[in-house]
Amino acid sequence: MSGRFAPSPTGDLHIGNLRTAYASWLDAQQRNIDWLVRFEDLDGVVAHRETADSQLASLEALGMVPAHEPLWQSEHLERYEAAIQALVASELTYPCYCSRREIREAVSAPNGPPAGMYPGTCSTLSTQQRSDRAEHRPAALRFRAEAAEVGFDDHVCGPSSYPVDDFVIRRNDGVPAYNLVVVVDDGFQGVSSVVRADDLLSSTSRQILVARALDLGPFDYSHVPLVVNEAGDRLTKRDGAMTLHQLAQMGWTPDDVFDWIRESMTGGLEAPGQWSNTWSPVPR
Ligand code: GLU
Repeated sequence: MSGRFAPSPTGDLHIGNLRTAYASWLDAQQRNIDWLVRFEDLDGVVAHRETADSQLASLEALGMVPAHEPLWQSEHLERYEAAIQALVASELTYPCYCSRREIREAVSAPNGPPAGMYPGTCSTLSTQQRSDRAEHRPAALRFRAEAAEVGFDDHVCGPSSYPVDDFVIRRNDGVPAYNLVVVVDDGFQGVSSVVRADDLLSSTSRQILVARALDLGPFDYSHVPLVVNEAGDRLTKRDGAMTLHQLAQMGWTPDDVFDWIRESMTGGLEAPGQWSNTWSPVPR
C-alpha cells in the first residue's frame, strides 16, 4: 500500500505543486504507508534528468523523500500497451479517426453532446468505413464508456459523480493517454491512496472505469484545493516567485516555505474547506 506524487518533470516545482506533494506525503504518513514519486514524462514532454533531480531536491528540502526510486513512465511503454490490449480484447475500445475540428463541429451542432464530451462519431463505424477513414488519418483508441455516470466518495470533496464520454486511451501518435497510464501505474506501484489537486476531480470517473475494466484498485481518492493567485486563478510565472530557488532570492528558507504550506492547511487533511489557498509572495 502506498501514496504518491506524480509531477511532470518539466520545470521546478512551485509552491502549489509543493503543497499538493506535502498533502500526499502527510496522507501517507497518517495512513502509515509508503510515499512514492512518479515522473509523468509521456505526452511529448521533454524530460530532463536534471529537472527531475531538482524536483526531488525541492521535495527533500521540505523533508519529503520517496520510499523507492521514482518511476519514469517512458520506461514502461510495454506495460501500458499490454493494458490497452487487454481492453481491446474485452471489446471496450474502438478506433477513432476524428480530428479536433470534427469533434468541435459535432459538439456545437444542435442536439450535440455537452461541451468537452466526445460525440461518439466513430463508435458505430462499419469495418469498411474504418478502413476508408484509416487511409486518411491514423486512429486514436477510445474507451467505450457510453456516457456512464460514475460516482465515488472523495475524502475531501465528498460524494462526487461525473458522466464519462468515450475518452482516448491511446492518442493517434501512439502515446498512451494520461487516464490509462495513471491507473496502470497506480495499480503497478501498489498505490492505495491517491491525493492530488482538485483540477483532476472529474477525471477520476474515467479512471475508475479503466480500473474496473483492468481489475485494479480500488483506490481512495482525496482531491485537495489548488493554490491560486490573488485573482483566484491558477498560478503562472507572472505571479512572481514560486519555486524554492526564486523564493530563496527573496529571503525565504525552505523552512519558511514549509511553514507557509503547513499554515495554509489549517485543520489539516481533515478540513480542506478551511485552507487558505491564495499565494502572494512577500520578501522575508
Ligand atoms: N501529473 C499530474 C499533475 O501534475 C498529476 C496526475 C495525478 O496525480 O494523477 O497535475
